[in-house]
Amino acid sequence: MPISHPTMAYSTRGSFAAHALRNLDLLEFLLNHTVLVGLVLVGFFTFRRMVKSGRQTAHAKKMIEKAIRTQTHEPISLHPDIDPALCAGCGNCTKVCPEGDILQMIHRKAVLVNPAKCVGHGECEIACPTDAISLVFGTKTRGMDIPHLSSNYETNVPGLYIAGELGGMGLIRNAIKQGALAAGHALANLADEKAQFDLLIVGAGPAGLAASLSAIAAKKSYLCVEQNSFGGTVANFPRQKVVMSQPFSLPIVGTKKFPSNKFSKEELIAYWEDTRKKTGLKIKEKTGFKALKRVGKIFEVETSQGTVTAKKVILAMGVRGSPRRLGVPGESLSKVTFNLIDPEQYQGQHVVVVGGGNAGVEAAQMLGAAKWKNKVHLLVRSQSFDRCNEDNEKTIRAMEKQGLVTIWFESQVSEIRETSIVIKRKEEVTELLNHFVFIFAGAEMPHKFLMSLGVQIDKKFGEGLSKAA
Ligand SMILES: Cc1cc2nc3c(=O)[nH]c(=O)nc-3n(C[C@H](O)[C@H](O)[C@H](O)COP(=O)(O)OP(=O)(O)OC[C@H]3O[C@@H](n4cnc5c(N)ncnc54)[C@H](O)[C@@H]3O)c2cc1C
Ligand code: SF4
Repeated sequence: MPISHPTMAYSTRGSFAAHALRNLDLLEFLLNHTVLVGLVLVGFFTFRRMVKSGRQTAHAKKMIEKAIRTQTHEPISLHPDIDPALCAGCGNCTKVCPEGDILQMIHRKAVLVNPAKCVGHGECEIACPTDAISLVFGTKTRGMDIPHLSSNYETNVPGLYIAGELGGMGLIRNAIKQGALAAGHALANLADEKAQFDLLIVGAGPAGLAASLSAIAAKKSYLCVEQNSFGGTVANFPRQKVVMSQPFSLPIVGTKKFPSNKFSKEELIAYWEDTRKKTGLKIKEKTGFKALKRVGKIFEVETSQGTVTAKKVILAMGVRGSPRRLGVPGESLSKVTFNLIDPEQYQGQHVVVVGGGNAGVEAAQMLGAAKWKNKVHLLVRSQSFDRCNEDNEKTIRAMEKQGLVTIWFESQVSEIRETSIVIKRKEEVTELLNHFVFIFAGAEMPHKFLMSLGVQIDKKFGEGLSKAA
């Protein structure tokens, strides 16, 4: 066992004593100068906060300047509107957006800095502790047409509801939430007049799925008609497409979260198919909705398979039935399509993809995969990727560097010919060899059809849904 030397022990004790004395001096100093120390600390933290806020403000201002320069300073659809008087400057909203840098802080107030990239997730609204954020359509200067809906998703026609993308709000999770909310409201208050069904649902995408499950949960009779097959737009996504979605909650089966909120189209469809089996959900496929009219307190609904009656109706038809066209010569040639389901079909081909949003960029990524040996050109109308998310932009730019895709900014199609395509970029006109054209220019809202059913279309100037009736 080691024996300590007596002088060593003494000197150690001596240094302890000196150390303790020094601590006592420091304590006495601190006690005598409490106010001074407090002021120094407050000053230090205030300074640190000011530096951080200054950095954030400079970054946010740069982003706004960029948005103005690239003409992406106008929101396209549902987006957050921040009340500066209520904003407490916590910054929560800037951290939760799945799309990245959409909101930033300017002088400790949240500001929308990347409006065109906002797709209306609504995470910011949920994260705000002071209710400073509301989700709105359009801006004070630019109106947006959307069907008249109450916050329960009921239209101006009593008993007729719209849920999902048809109401102007995209995303799978939003569609599910709205389908369940609309059905919950519709089924809570049923007429006593006789009808074949309590609820008729048009469309079996995520909104129609949630609405149908709500009817099962409430033990009410329902009919879900679908002109194609179960799954809606998701069923028509390209094979193995990576779907991004925050966790969603379906009636009966509860909340589903996929790891990292990313999963394949096939995984999502398999989950919904499993849900369909577990709950006994019934869908009348290959049955199109044609028209409806109100007879007394119920609806007479015309479908491609005959007429039925229902007490309430939910239109969950999405908007993909009417893709936006370019209006150029040759657009009706058979080589032109508005959807990509199976990229494997296209190998060794000269392909043009039109559209710089997520759908167009993802299609170009799939068609441009090295294994297919295609020659892919991606045409983007603006001068930057202002409508796709950061992940997609990074991937497509990396593919361009590898020579797998050619990106044409500020370009548009002039004409589509049998074996070629004419592209205009500023004043320069180029004709390219071409076998297939994929157009992803968004969708036309079927407002005329809705108006024929009596639904009013509102122009929203920075407003949310109407208050529930
Ligand atoms: C290429 C692409 C990629 C996308 N990626 C994502 C993503 O990663 N994450 C995300 O959250 N969202 C994504 N979206 C958006 C998402 O798919 C939609 O917002 C969502 O599917 C809308 O759901 P819905 O139920 O409102 O409509 P839909 O899913 O469009 O379903 C509507 C259904 O109604 C049917 N229907 C239409 N008219 C009639 C009629 N007259 N009679 C009977 N049936 C009818 C249609 O056949 C369809 O099955 C993407 C969209 C596209 C186009
Ligand atoms: S979450 Fe609300 S309070 Fe916090 S910065 Fe954003 S808008 Fe302001």
